[in-house]
Amino acid sequence: MFSNTGVNPYVFFFASLAQMSMSLAFMLLINTTLSNRLIALAATDALTGLMNRRSLDQEITRQLANEKRHGECMSLMMVDVDHFKQINDRYGHLAGDEVLRRLAHLMQSVVRTNDYIARYGGEEFCILLPGTNEAQALILAERLHRLFNELVIEWEGDIVRGSISIGVADTLHDAHEAHSILSAADLALYMAKHQGRNRVIAFSAYGKHDVSIITAKT
Ligand code: GH3
Ligand code: MG
Ligand code: MG
Repeated sequence: MFSNTGVNPYVFFFASLAQMSMSLAFMLLINTTLSNRLIALAATDALTGLMNRRSLDQEITRQLANEKRHGECMSLMMVDVDHFKQINDRYGHLAGDEVLRRLAHLMQSVVRTNDYIARYGGEEFCILLPGTNEAQALILAERLHRLFNELVIEWEGDIVRGSISIGVADTLHDAHEAHSILSAADLALYMAKHQGRNRVIAFSAYGKHDVSIITAKT
């Protein structure tokens, strides 16, 4: 076939092979990049760019296993914007979105690089602090609480301000399963709301007895 063309069949064969290999490698590269991008998107909250609930749940389980191996303690903060519905009603949903983004940004600015922040639900966020006990997490929570109180958000000529309530729990206080540390922080948050909002409450400040009485009454 190549006898009259002057093209060396071996050169032609290897050149074609090289071209096909390069195309295949390029397609594989695109495929890997796209699937990495899809994995990242599936783990991320679109509004704030933070981890979503599913990836935080996985991270809590992973960190608990780590903690069992190394005997370390970890804390969890549950953060909720107070009367967020009123912010939406008064300034509009887009202003509400901006409040959530600014809170996310503030949280990123106060935590350490090995902490995990997630948007856990509408206006509720979680911060997972590996290697941190409740007393240390409380200091961080108080700081975040104060900074959010001071935050002034300008939105279409209005000044939007708000407050947050934070519940804090750690694994030293009866929370050695993923669902236990989550429900301990959630109960502490519930107590913060119950006491009038705009405050930080530690799970250890209440015995199980106090919590069950108060939650049963409401
Ligand atoms: P509390 O102090 O008890 O937490 O009261 P709240 O008004 O913050 O809580 P509630 O659960 O009554 O209302 C939460 C509101 O958050 C209702 C929902 O429409 C709004 N919301 C949830 N997700 C988003 C979002 O992505 N953007 C905006 N702008 N609003 C959201
Ligand atoms: Mg709220
Ligand atoms: Mg809420």
